[in-house]
Amino acid sequence: LWCCQYTPNPNSTLCPTLHDREPQKAVHNWPAPSGLGEGLAGRAFHGLSISNNSLWQAVRLQADLYRQSDGVHRVMESTLTARDRVGVQDFVLLENYTSEAAFIENLRRRFGEKLIYTYIGSVLVSVNPYKDLEIYSKAHMERYRGVSFYEISPHIYAVSDNTYRAMRTERRDQCILISGESGAGKTEASKKILQYYATTCPVTDHMSTIRDRLLQSNPVLEAFGNAKTLRNDNSSRFGKYMDVQFDFRGAPIGGHILNYLLEKSRVVHQNHGERNFHIFYQLLEGGEQDQLSKLGLERNAQKYHYLVKGCCPRVSSINDKSDWKTVRKALTVIGFHEEEVEDLLNIIASVLHLGNTQFGEGEDGETQITTEPQLTYLSKLLGVDGPALREALTHKKLTAKGEEVSPLSFEQAVAARDALAKAVYGRAFTWLVAKINQSLAFKDEVYNSSKGSSSVIGLLDIYGFEVFQHNSFEQFCINYCNEKLQQLFIKLTLKSEQEEYEAEGITWEPVKYFDNKIICDLVEEKHKGFISILDEECLRPGEPSDISFLEKLEDTLGGHAHFVTHKLANGKTRKAVGREEFRLIHYAGEVNYTVNGELANQSVICQSDNQILSQCFNREEVTTQKRPETAATQFKNSLAKLIEILMSKEPSYVRCIKPNDAKQSGRFDEALVRHQVKYLGLMENLRVRRAGFAYRRRYEAFLQRYKSLCPGTWPNWQGRLADGVATLVQHLGYKPEEYKLGKTKIFIRFPKTLFTTEDALEAR
Ligand code: ADP
Ligand code: MG
Repeated sequence: LWCCQYTPNPNSTLCPTLHDREPQKAVHNWPAPSGLGEGLAGRAFHGLSISNNSLWQAVRLQADLYRQSDGVHRVMESTLTARDRVGVQDFVLLENYTSEAAFIENLRRRFGEKLIYTYIGSVLVSVNPYKDLEIYSKAHMERYRGVSFYEISPHIYAVSDNTYRAMRTERRDQCILISGESGAGKTEASKKILQYYATTCPVTDHMSTIRDRLLQSNPVLEAFGNAKTLRNDNSSRFGKYMDVQFDFRGAPIGGHILNYLLEKSRVVHQNHGERNFHIFYQLLEGGEQDQLSKLGLERNAQKYHYLVKGCCPRVSSINDKSDWKTVRKALTVIGFHEEEVEDLLNIIASVLHLGNTQFGEGEDGETQITTEPQLTYLSKLLGVDGPALREALTHKKLTAKGEEVSPLSFEQAVAARDALAKAVYGRAFTWLVAKINQSLAFKDEVYNSSKGSSSVIGLLDIYGFEVFQHNSFEQFCINYCNEKLQQLFIKLTLKSEQEEYEAEGITWEPVKYFDNKIICDLVEEKHKGFISILDEECLRPGEPSDISFLEKLEDTLGGHAHFVTHKLANGKTRKAVGREEFRLIHYAGEVNYTVNGELANQSVICQSDNQILSQCFNREEVTTQKRPETAATQFKNSLAKLIEILMSKEPSYVRCIKPNDAKQSGRFDEALVRHQVKYLGLMENLRVRRAGFAYRRRYEAFLQRYKSLCPGTWPNWQGRLADGVATLVQHLGYKPEEYKLGKTKIFIRFPKTLFTTEDALEAR
């Protein structure tokens, strides 16, 4: 099989070391420094002139080659053994593709060899290595530039490059959807994609500013929106969709970020072993002394109530001090003025002062603030009137205009304080994103020439499915969001694939999969869905009540296959679900949510009528809102918009997997991985992929590209497109099992067929 392959290609510039050498030796000597991955061997082969068929074999087995650098002959003899060790780079090539055990075994083997990427067709599966692999250098990026998917080993750069080329050649907006549970590597993946574009795309001077801003937006957003959780030391506590805009030359010219539901509760409370948002610790550790003094802060996180709830102000994997420097620099690159940075820091500091604001009982029995210095700082930092602030924290308005007020109880005052801290921080975050967007905005006057012909690649890095011991409204939103994205994945890959075969009149065996639409409906259906019931409870006159909300849920959703409360049908009590809880059976697992005031009290957004906020931020959207919206409805609507955006683009997928819960490198917990493989729907994905065809192209596109390979279709085919394609593929020697002709498209079963054809084109 391999003997025919050792003829060096004299024109090869890709593998210069192969020149003037005995080819066998050349391959033999091909350096395989650790960590270079499979790709290098792929390139080594690329440099050799070999037959198409064996090139495909080479690609299949390229990993074996560099692993066995002590001798090619051994590779030939032990090809199978080698493959046994490193697995296949595309699950489509698995012999036993319906077996989940084989799937996981393949992942495990590759993971053991530090091969963290594997394809399912064009979907990239990535397993978090929990250590820096040397596979992200500039040289690696170069290797993936302009190279077709199957020529080189799987990599996030291959997905980046392919998406980029698809955008350029097809002139269609693209998006890359990155999913997986918390800590699986989504954010890292999205950063690697962005770095790839920043490094490999053409830029001019103007554009380099945009490129730098795009890159620098990450540390800033992470400082304000990420935190250490039990699952991830740098967990994104907000969802992010980022558009990168390219001009007709393929250079980045702008960007836009949409953010989703920041986990504001973290500002005032953290579970054991978790931290508040990074920025607080960064400022305290890294801020200059006079800066801290001005803000009234001490360089000691232990002093701040909001920073010590989780009992872990320090994290070994995080250097707050140097991160602070990075963030400060990034803010400057993005174009924040000094005053703006100051305002931002004032807000950070005021949140800390709010946390240290205490209440006690005054002589008149009313709740009052007992920490005057905090109040003074707050009023200075937020730029609000002291008495007004005092009143806002200890009294509530009875009338809309606030002429009449009544005192708050101690608990109410604490809640009001916390609510204010969350609101202030949330608003600051929104402002921050808006500000970054301004700085990333595509400027017509600068790039006049590219007006109207730009395309977009969207990157979606959104919080993964998560289950904690105590799950509240925020987890509910996060998990609901994951249901929606799974639904999109199903629609775009499984369902659409099957529907396309049907529409094209191609016969094949349908694949069964779990459609989670039923759970999406349970949450969002009009009038009888979860969110409708929540709205009803929050918007009815009077205080929303947890009990009545739970009862309403039970009345409407009781009996639904995916909704469970403590009540059993036979009148008995289910122990696994508390009285203040309900359970949703998500596609990814079961989660108990607590209705503990927080949920039902997600009342009307426009009630957040704190005077301080009105002075800090533009509250127009609140005051002009006609019908009040609950946070849940707002979230639902923003998700619907997101789905619409994603649907309008050509999607690519990165499915991230977390190998263990201990954040350790080299540990592969099979049960944990199996669970993720299951709920990410990877087996279904593979079955559909195998049952189907690797490639499909519209007849006109296929003919246009390959017509020169056949005298019958060159230079122009006059007849029906389908007949032209039939003539062409017959001439190319496609076997009947390799392809099918649909109504408007040709379907090609194996990548190698197209690969061979591409090769023929190149050889001309
Ligand atoms: P997610 O966004 O899915 O919650 P992250 O992308 O933040 O997860 O990854 C969690 C951690 O795992 C990172 O901080 C990093 O330490 C490690 N990690 C993730 N992907 C990689 C990778 N490709 N190489 C090395 N380490 C990684
Ligand atoms: Mg993340």
